[in-house]
This record gives sequence, C-alpha cells and structure tokens, in this order.
Amino acid sequence: MTVKVEVQSFPLFINGKWEPASNQETFDVFNPATGELVAKVAKGTAADVDRAVQAARDAFDNTEWKNMNPKDRAKVLYAISYQIAAHAEELAYLEAISSGGTVRRIGNSDILQMVDLFQTLANFTLEYPFSETLPVPPFPGPAHNFVWREPIGVCAAITPWNLPMVIATWKIAPALAMGNTVVIKPASYTPLSTLKLAELISNVVPPGVINVVTGPGAEIGEALVRHPKVDKVAFTGSTEVGRRIMGLASETIKNTTLELGGKSPNILLEDADLSIAIPGSLFGVFLHSGQLCESGTRLFVPDSLYDQVVAGLVALTSKLKLGNPLDPMTDVGPVISKKQKETILSYIEAGIQEGATLVCGGKEVKVGGCEDGYFVEPTIFTNVTNDMKIAQEEIFGPVLCVIRYSELDEAIKMANDTIYGLAAGVWTRDVNKAYEVARKLQAGVVWINDWHMLRSDAPFGGYKQSGIGREMGQQSLDAYTQTKHVHTSMSPELERRNWYGILFGQN
Ligand code: NAD
Repeated sequence: MTVKVEVQSFPLFINGKWEPASNQETFDVFNPATGELVAKVAKGTAADVDRAVQAARDAFDNTEWKNMNPKDRAKVLYAISYQIAAHAEELAYLEAISSGGTVRRIGNSDILQMVDLFQTLANFTLEYPFSETLPVPPFPGPAHNFVWREPIGVCAAITPWNLPMVIATWKIAPALAMGNTVVIKPASYTPLSTLKLAELISNVVPPGVINVVTGPGAEIGEALVRHPKVDKVAFTGSTEVGRRIMGLASETIKNTTLELGGKSPNILLEDADLSIAIPGSLFGVFLHSGQLCESGTRLFVPDSLYDQVVAGLVALTSKLKLGNPLDPMTDVGPVISKKQKETILSYIEAGIQEGATLVCGGKEVKVGGCEDGYFVEPTIFTNVTNDMKIAQEEIFGPVLCVIRYSELDEAIKMANDTIYGLAAGVWTRDVNKAYEVARKLQAGVVWINDWHMLRSDAPFGGYKQSGIGREMGQQSLDAYTQTKHVHTSMSPELERRNWYGILFGQN
C-alpha cells in the first residue's frame, strides 16, 4: 500500500503562538516506513529556549493559572481530553508518519490512553489533598498546622521518539493538573504530534502554560535542564542521556523525574497456559517493533516446555505482517531510522557471534510500497545465556532472547541480574505462585499473565537504572507538587512558649 504524504511545516509553539526559530533554521522529519520527507520543523536555539521558559515563567508567576480551583481545573483537563478525541485522526496520522507506529495501535491504544489519562487525573484532582490539617499535638505545643501542596513552577519535559504523544501526556497531564506550566522538547525524529497536541491544549489554557521547542537534544535539552528559571525536569529516554541530565540538573538542584531504559524479564512457569502465554509474550516484545521501554525482551522458559514454547513462538511470529503503518492491516511497522536499523542488525550479529541460535528473522526486509523504509524482521534467539550482550543491553528493536532454566529460583535470579528494573512478567495458573514471584522481581511493574497493561491510575517507573520517580497514578500528581508546612501558634501568652526558654534561659 502506498500513501502519499504531504510535506508540512511546523514552527515552534511559544506563548500560545506559532513562531519560527530565532535563526529561521529548520530540520527535516522523515517517514521511517518510506524514507520520504514529511515535515520541515523549526530548529530552535538556546535563545528560543529562553523565550519559551520566560513565557512559561510569566504564565506561572503572573496569572491565576496556578491558583485555579480544582473543579475548574478538572474541567480544563476534561476539555483537553475532548480536544484530543476530536482530533484523534490527525494526531494518529502525524504520529504514524514520523514514529512508524501503526495506526492500528495508535488509534486503539495511544489515543484512548491519552484521553483516559487527562480524565483520570481530572477526577483525582477533585479529591487531591491540596491542604491537609494536622492534629493538634501535645508536642511541640498547641498549634494549628497545615500541609499545603503547591505546584512546582516551570516544568521542562524531554521526550523520546518511540511513543511521543503518550509519553508527552504522562508529563503534561499531571503538570497541568497541579497548576504548573510546561516547556516540552520532543525528540527530533518525532516532534509533529507533540506540536499539534500543544496547539490543541492551548485552545483551553492561557498562553504560556504549554510551549514546545524543537531541535537537537544536546542543545535544546541541555539548555532547558540548565535553565535557572526551570524548576523541574521530567525526562524519558535512554539511561545514558538520563545520567547526563541528572548531572546537569544537579547544578541548580532541580526536581527530576527520570524514565529510562529496560531489559524486562518475562518468566513462564511450568503450569503456564501456553495458548495465552505464547501470544502474550510476543505481544510483550514485538509491539511497535520492540521499541518500547517496557518490552519483555528476555523470556525465561523451563526445560520441560522449552521446545514446545520455541516452536509456538516461531510459528506465530512468522505470521506477523510487516507493512506501512498507515495500512490498518499492518501488524509490525518499521524501526525509527537507518541508524536504529543498523544498531539492531549489529546486535543480531553479536548474538550469532556469542553463540546464540537464531531461530527466526534476523534480517532487514524490503516491504512492498515501502522499499526505502527501515524494516527488521521480528527476531528470536534461543540458547541465549543471561550474560550475553543481547541479554544485557537494551537493543530497542524486535529481538527476543529465549533463556532456558531448570529451577524457578535460578530464573528469578537471572531475571534480576540486570542494571534495569522497569517491567517484568510471569505466566502461571497458580495465583499464589504468581504473587510470590512478583514479590521477588525487581521491577516497577509486574504483569501476571499479561503485558503492556499500563493504567492511568497506576504508577509507572523503574527500579535500579530504569529511573527515578513515577508517572501516572496519584504519585504523578505528587511528583508535580511541593509541600509547604504552615504553622500557626495557639499560645498567645509568652509564658506558655516554653521553647523560647531554650534561648532566653536567664531572662
Ligand atoms: P534518547 O535518550 O536518545 O533521547 C531522549 C530525548 O532526550 C530526546 O528528546 C533527545 O533529543 C533528548 N536528548 C538527547 N541528548 C540530550 C542531552 N544531552 N540533554 C538533554 N536532552 C537530550 O532516547 P531515545 O533514543 O529518543 O528513546 C529511546 C530510549 O528511551 C530507550 O532507552 C527507551 O528505553 C527509553 N524509554 C523509556 C521509557 C520509560 O518510561 N522508562 C519510555 C520510552 C522510552
């Protein structure tokens, strides 16, 4: 299927307006399925970052946005969700032509998740403890005490290319729910949907509350992280860049949320229902061509099931249809870029060199109508050991490592033997066993007999080097507030203030 895509132009989005970059420069965005140019986007500069941050600062400091009452704020969040729903088709299209995500996934999952997140956080906002009264305690003395939760201020959001809209929403929704303002820097492969999303949001929030600066990560991202008028940084991306951001944010002691890489273990137990576990494990690893941080890339299979499971995995994988993401019949789209394709192929070569057995895929593919796209066959390695490079490093492509085990404790030990700790899974008919395994797995989310089930009302984030902090759920609201303790003395007479005697003992 060939779909002709029109080249669009996108300026920066600052203070509620479209504006060119200060130096008028642009960069090109290509469709990874076809290699075609799809957009020219403003290549921002540090001066543009400054303008955007100032707009966000003014909107935070000088308007009533931060003080809006929760009922009105919930209405704003609902209004944003309606904007997204009303423009779902355009958002899905922009996302598909730049990220290579299939319209089938974006339409049936991403858009619904975004709408659901804004609505869920709107509902949470109504119940949120913006002010809590503490009991009057005997110690340190009678007083009225409150804990107020206040917005942090200007929040910088830096996002990756794999799920640009959804991950932007994980940051924008809680930030706005708590009264902050936002400057977002999307990845340069995939800025289009974020720019459109900001325009939609700006239809219902004051100018300056949401701003987008596009351009190179090392320049725009670092300028944001270093900016003295930015109060918080929320970053999703590789662990390598996360490390750098954490270092830079320390210069101005910024509140930082990091959502980083993963190498998630998936353990099949002997009593697993294979009719679900096999398709479920493939869904866990090959969705979006394996370019999801929480992909289940290491599958642990007991000796007794090994051959049967491998045969089932290979049979089902060989039926996956690679194609243009805009075609609703496509199961698997391209990977994001030529560079990413080459990285994935080099990992596949490393797996072969290390002695793993390639049982499925392993090559790049030419897809009819998308001859210049970057497609890699869904790939399965067996006889993988957990110390191999392909089992330890994040490939971020459609590569499954199947690892054999004899004893469950050995599988759990290998599962945890990684620098990452984002997601994990276990497949079994025994719910008690499942909880026992879940308890032992070092990961921010554990799926039992399922995968990729992220929820707006549940926190998501990583153990170990997969990150710091959580997005979504109630915890995401906490992450965009700071607390203020307010104390009011109930002792009008000086003689009842025993504490003062610590200083004025002689008087
Ligand atoms: P990346 O780290 O290369 O880039 C992420 C973002 O950071 C981009 O916008 C990029 O322009 C910007 N950036 C790059 N260098 C920077 C710097 N020095 N300072 C500031 N910003 C900079 O990641 P990617 O390749 O876009 O995305 C893939 C990675 O993201 C994978 O490692 C994946 O696991 C991770 N990821 C994690 C989650 C999660 O929730 N934990 C979700 C999706 C993706």
